[in-house]
Amino acid sequence: MTPRNPPHSTHVACLWCDAWFTPSAPGSREKRFCNSRCQVDFNTALRNWARRVFDAGLVGVDTLKMENARSRVVHDEETALEETGRDLQLS
Ligand SMILES: [Zn+2]
Repeated sequence: MTPRNPPHSTHVACLWCDAWFTPSAPGSREKRFCNSRCQVDFNTALRNWARRVFDAGLVGVDTLKMENARSRVVHDEETALEETGRDLQLS
């Protein structure tokens, strides 16, 4: 359950435990978890859930392959944007 109102305007609620926290430096990647333990627990739960969905036959391997290819494109785009930002800071 997501808490109602943040105690401070810079606070956001952790996706996993609902604790309020202030994300790190502005401009950094979106931060959804208050600490790495919550991120690990979320990823573990998500992976286990996805495994059960796959094992139940609700999603096929072709769908997973397409998602993997899509993720690579997004990753490549993000990497290109980060490199462009570094280039701009150096010049
Ligand atoms: Zn948390």
